[in-house]
Amino acid sequence: MSPVPQSVIDEVYARCDIVEIISGYLHLQPAGRNFRALCPFHQEKTPSFIVSPEKQLFNCFGCGTGGNVFSFLMKHEHLSFMEALRLLAEKAGVTLSGLGGEKEASSALFELNGFAKDFFIKCLGETSKARDYLLKKRGLSPEVIEKFCLGYAPPDRDALLRKAEEEGFSERILIEGGLLIQRRDKEGYYDRFRNRIIFPIFNLAEKVVGFGGRALGDEMPLYMNSPETALYHKSDSLYGLHLSRKAIAECGKALIVEGYMDVIAVFQAGIRNVVGSLGTSLTRRQLRLIRRYAQEVVMVYDGDKAGIEATLRGLDSSLAEGFSVRLTSLPEGEDPDSFIGRHGSETFQERVSCAADLLEYKLGFLRNRYDSTTVGGKASIVREMLPTLEKVANAIEKSGYIKRLAEELSLGGRASLGEEYILTELHKLESKETRAMQPSPINIDPYPAERSLIQIMLQHSNMVDRIKAEAGEFQCSDYRKIAEVIFELHQDGRASGAGRIVNILGDDKIEALVSRLAVEAAPFEDIELAVADALRAMRNNERKRKIEALEKRIEDADEEGEEELVKRLQAECQQITQEMVSYRRGGKLGKSED
Ligand SMILES: [Zn+2]
Repeated sequence: MSPVPQSVIDEVYARCDIVEIISGYLHLQPAGRNFRALCPFHQEKTPSFIVSPEKQLFNCFGCGTGGNVFSFLMKHEHLSFMEALRLLAEKAGVTLSGLGGEKEASSALFELNGFAKDFFIKCLGETSKARDYLLKKRGLSPEVIEKFCLGYAPPDRDALLRKAEEEGFSERILIEGGLLIQRRDKEGYYDRFRNRIIFPIFNLAEKVVGFGGRALGDEMPLYMNSPETALYHKSDSLYGLHLSRKAIAECGKALIVEGYMDVIAVFQAGIRNVVGSLGTSLTRRQLRLIRRYAQEVVMVYDGDKAGIEATLRGLDSSLAEGFSVRLTSLPEGEDPDSFIGRHGSETFQERVSCAADLLEYKLGFLRNRYDSTTVGGKASIVREMLPTLEKVANAIEKSGYIKRLAEELSLGGRASLGEEYILTELHKLESKETRAMQPSPINIDPYPAERSLIQIMLQHSNMVDRIKAEAGEFQCSDYRKIAEVIFELHQDGRASGAGRIVNILGDDKIEALVSRLAVEAAPFEDIELAVADALRAMRNNERKRKIEALEKRIEDADEEGEEELVKRLQAECQQITQEMVSYRRGGKLGKSED
């Protein structure tokens, strides 16, 4: 249970607008009274993710995920409830005083990183050789240096350590933040970053999670990063995303480059939809992060062998994430930074705009490796293409690729024979994979009347009293829980807005259910009539359950030879059946619950 009083949660909740918060993560488009976006929780091409400003809820009609603003942040940013609450409280200007525990440690780390960033920026201002390096040697503008908060770590062994201790940061927190390295003789610590240009790495909340450092000269290692800490996880951060996400969302396309300087050089050249993978291959988590903003990625990697292999590794995982992928590699020995420096940003743009699609790119690479004029060479190329083809999420795209591959390699004389060959090989591969990843079909609701009543209560609070008085017990445990919360809030006279109900439920599945029922357009024309029908159906269902129980008892009594009892139970049964028949006659047509 959360240690925060419900009143504080309500306060934070009331001050946050779900549309405003979600639009920081997704590209929301107006759709009637709601907003629509591509769902970040499942793969899709047409948006089925709905945000309702009125209900303060989101719901995906594709995968069923839903909830309020807290649920969104918890799911999307992988936060605990407390973390989501803190984040929103900060945005809303609500102080959560005296809340001890889980986040204290990381907020101290954020504070330390903020301090270190400012310290490095100050040192850059005071060190002309470092400024010259950035301005003259790398050709960066002062604005870009400021935008990326670039800094400089002095060469002394303990410049940061001393300054941080003066400011009251403990050695322990500096170690936890990855800013110190233990001396070889184990007698104390010294600064990790020395005589290096510093690139702070920001999260999407625009707080520093870690640092990268580049040597001023050719000293090895040329680049150095923060180690994994409580805040910095290499595999799920993307350099520059906090600056580029808006541009990426606007054009639906992300340019992925490798290094810090690549990102900055491309950004300075006026291309804003760029992020850095900070490694040779892209991880799935990085791709998921981009997926929130873009459906297309263009990878621009260094022209060396390792760069190409890395590009190909990144490519397969992006297909699995349902991306449209294009790639371009730069001439041997060039990276985006040096390429733009040498050839200008227009040439770079051209190169990006005619980036090859997946098949072309990988085929070109494999043609260099194998002799595509021989049967053996062709077989090798197909074999290496299979894992890539297998990951193409869209079936039409996939068959298009297979067709093209068969044609390109002129397999089997007739192209169709080649296609057949590739398909057979592909099926062999696919049957090896588990198919457990298939989304489960939406279940038919066995309690439609209960569903209707919950939906009506969520959308028309004036119906709550009547339903509470007449409904009896809900049979479905999920609906029962939701009904209890609605009744409780209603009794307290607190507004039972659907978004608030979600705060109290604290269960993923039920949250999604509430959101769906609240946001979905209800199929009722006449609410009073719908309530009456549903209530009647619930009573009727109760009768059915009674009859079933009686039938069971009749069977038992019959076996025991208790004729009297059997007769009495049969009479009871008949009585109830009678009630059901008369209910049916009296009831409205076309609303049977069977
Ligand atoms: Zn979804």
